[in-house]
This record gives sequence, structure tokens and C-alpha cells, in this order.
Amino acid sequence: MVFASGRRLPRRALFFDTPCVSQTQIARKLGCQLTRKGSIRCGRYEATSVPGVFVAGNIIEDVQLAIVAAAEGTRAAFGINRSLTREDYERRATGVQHVEHPPVDDKDVARRRPDKLGAS
Ligand SMILES: Cc1cc2nc3c(=O)[nH]c(=O)nc-3n(C[C@H](O)[C@H](O)[C@H](O)COP(=O)(O)OP(=O)(O)OC[C@H]3O[C@@H](n4cnc5c(N)ncnc54)[C@H](O)[C@@H]3O)c2cc1C
Repeated sequence: MVFASGRRLPRRALFFDTPCVSQTQIARKLGCQLTRKGSIRCGRYEATSVPGVFVAGNIIEDVQLAIVAAAEGTRAAFGINRSLTREDYERRATGVQHVEHPPVDDKDVARRRPDKLGAS
């Protein structure tokens, strides 16, 4: 490597880290709570603090790999199906319709990322 100052540093390989910034404001505009680092705060089944809104992928503060994003998408899909099924059962049983949504409590957030507990 040759620095701007002209200093040379012999190396066989170079690893670099690029910042990752969300390109969409949708979750924020919907009112989802954020972590201290600005990503979407979510708990079980990738449920956000807004009923009916689930997230997956880089927008969650976690390991940023394609396979992790896919796994989170699968968990979110499971959570959405679970919520809709419960909502449907309740509507049929009681005639009342409301959005069934997993609570996002600190315990769930901590279980997902014990070192990154945070809220806005
Ligand atoms: C240089 C680089 C190298 C990487 N190498 C690897 C690797 O080797 N292995 C690995 O597993 N992971 C790698 N990753 C990480 C991996 O790409 C991400 O973790 C993964 O793509 C996250 O998936 P995602 O669906 O959350 O986001 P993305 O794949 O970024 O998908 C988000 C999509 O939403 C679209 N979008 C954004 N805003 C809007 C909007 N308002 N309306 C409609 N669409 C919108 C974007 O155009 C994009 O297509 C790498 C990332 C980078 C940047």
C-alpha cells in the first residue's frame, strides 16, 4: 500500500469494511422504534414496535450476510402467518377484528442481541 503521504506498507492481502446505510425510510415513516445505532428495533419473529410491521435483512442491526437476511425473512414470514391466523381465529370466534402482533419487549430484543440492547 502507498499512502497519500508516500509512506509504503508491504501487505499480501487487504480487507476493508464499508458502512451500510439504509436506503429506505419506510419503516421510520411508519413509526418503528429505532435502536441507538439507528436500525429498526425488533423482537420475536422480526416484529417491530408497530403492529403489523415486520422487518428482515440489513435494516436490522445484526450480521449483514445474505443467508442471515434470508433467515430473518423466513422468521418474519412465520410471524406474519402466525399473526394473521390468530387474528382470523379471534374474528371468527368473537366477531372482533384487531391486529395480532408479537410484543417487542426488552427480553426478546436482548435474546436476539444481548450486547446491543437499545431503544429510541
Ligand atoms: C460489497 C458487498 C459485498 C457483500 N458480500 C457478501 C458476501 O460475500 N456474502 C454475503 O452473504 N453477503 C454479502 N454482502 C451483504 C449482503 O449483500 C446483504 O447482507 C444482503 O443483500 C441484505 O439483504 P437485504 O434484502 O436486507 O438488502 P438488499 O439486498 O440491499 O435489498 C434491498 C433492496 O431494496 C431496494 N430498495 C431500497 N429502497 C427502496 C424503496 N424505497 N423502494 C423499493 N425498493 C427499495 C434496493 O434497491 C434493494 O434491491 C455484501 C454486501 C456488500 C455491500
